[in-house]
Amino acid sequence: MHCPVCPHDDTKVIDSRPADDGAAIRRRRACPECTYRFTTYERLEEAPLLVMKRSGSPEPFDRAKVTFGVRSACKGRPVDDVAIDALAEAVEDDMRLAATAGTEITSSTVGHAVLERLKALDEVAYMRFASVYKNFDDAAAFRRELALLKQS
Ligand SMILES: [Zn+2]
Repeated sequence: MHCPVCPHDDTKVIDSRPADDGAAIRRRRACPECTYRFTTYERLEEAPLLVMKRSGSPEPFDRAKVTFGVRSACKGRPVDDVAIDALAEAVEDDMRLAATAGTEITSSTVGHAVLERLKALDEVAYMRFASVYKNFDDAAAFRRELALLKQS
């Protein structure tokens, strides 16, 4: 990479470390000619994954939001952060695969994918997430869901 300051056409990488939780590589570069130092970031170039909200407007998939929701549901449950992060990652993978296959990803698609995986992880967390996500409007709906859960 050429120096942004002088006409020298090559710079040296003097430091390289993961950034953005490993999603990027941060490199410190120095120009051997004028000693100017600057930083570059290397990232995976990927198409943004868009999620259709209930309002009908798209927003980029936000894995942090999934992690946050699942973490809240798992509060006080024997589920560690590693498992929660892995779940969020798996959901993102599922959504990318589905989107690649031509499925429209909606907030409801994401919610169901989370529920499916949470069910295998912790039943109480699953019920908590379901009650928030599905907006159970009455206690009967909640009990029906609980009964279904017990059968499976
Ligand atoms: Zn230079």
